Amino acid sequence: MSAATSGTATVAPGTTTADLRSDTLTRPSEAMRHAMAHAPVGDDVYAEDPTVLALQREVAELLGHEDALFTPTGSMANQLGVRLHVAPGAELIADDLAHVLRAELGAAAVLSGISARSWHATNGLLDVDAAMALAVTDGGAYQVGTTCVVVENTHNFGGGTVQPLETMQELHRRAHERGMAVHLDGARLWNAHVATGIPLAEYAACADTVSVCLSKGLGAPVGSLLVGSAEHMEQARVWRKRFGGGMRQVGILAEGGRYALAHQLERLADDHARCRRVAEAVAASRPGVVDPAAVHTNILVLQVAAAGWTGADFIAAAGERGVLGYATGPGSVRFVWHLDVDDAQTDHAAGVLTELLSAGEPQRA
Ligand SMILES: *Cc1c(COP(=O)(O)O)cnc(C)c1O
Repeated sequence: MSAATSGTATVAPGTTTADLRSDTLTRPSEAMRHAMAHAPVGDDVYAEDPTVLALQREVAELLGHEDALFTPTGSMANQLGVRLHVAPGAELIADDLAHVLRAELGAAAVLSGISARSWHATNGLLDVDAAMALAVTDGGAYQVGTTCVVVENTHNFGGGTVQPLETMQELHRRAHERGMAVHLDGARLWNAHVATGIPLAEYAACADTVSVCLSKGLGAPVGSLLVGSAEHMEQARVWRKRFGGGMRQVGILAEGGRYALAHQLERLADDHARCRRVAEAVAASRPGVVDPAAVHTNILVLQVAAAGWTGADFIAAAGERGVLGYATGPGSVRFVWHLDVDDAQTDHAAGVLTELLSAGEPQRA
């Protein structure tokens, strides 16, 4: 990441810092490290690692699907999911801000010969009519056939947006009516569950396969899972090995995920409350930059252009004051709350952001 986007500016000594670039930045606690160090292990390519098997069982059960498969990354879990539903030469569809399209470096095309098209999504909010209008399920030998719809919940680049359950249910029903599978990119499905109280399994019932990340706000250092039917997971196990993701005594990592689920799931509500608090402070001090009602979880997107800033300049100025974020566009920036950001850091961030936005971008000579 370049300094312009990572916000790694020179910070005056003694300044409070809040690293809000991403919820992937969390570090494992002593207690988590202890649990990991003592996890029983075996060779997971032989499906003999008891800790991985336990994690897979627990997550499959939480999400109400038959089985689950541990993967090194969320990108691999997504790529396994779409690989199962789309043959080479066919296509998936997703919204134009989807992680699977924007942040996996063309993996579906490179690894699986899958092409993709997208519909436009405001704040990442799922638009079932737009998805259905885009899908081609009777293309014959002329048009590329759509066999999978990808939906993201919560939506990362949309700003932590929670998809309404009824919309996901409608997508599932209408996609199946036309013979298409649904893959749910649930890297932050935990956040949707904690924000709404809707059981994880109700969201997961709206998809054929679901990916979830342990290494975002949950706070494990590594790891994701794909969940789905036993038959799909058997196929995914083959593709995981082919993609280079067959790991050996990996229970040490899986235990970090088990620890996070047992101890750090409900606390996501704290991240949401802190993020909301800053959104409200910013909205009160500078109208037009953010609508607090659109801030559903732990991700704050600010349209700093409305206060005369470019995204890159705003990130540099906030970085100098110890508040690290990420420019998501020419006039927009993103700040993400997580396990390693407390109330004092949140107050500091609120102060810096409101001060910069009220002042506006300094004029250059
Ligand atoms: C982080 C993330 C992923 C997976 O990312 P990895 O870095 O590969 O683990 C997938 N989808 C979304 C929406 C994400 O935010």
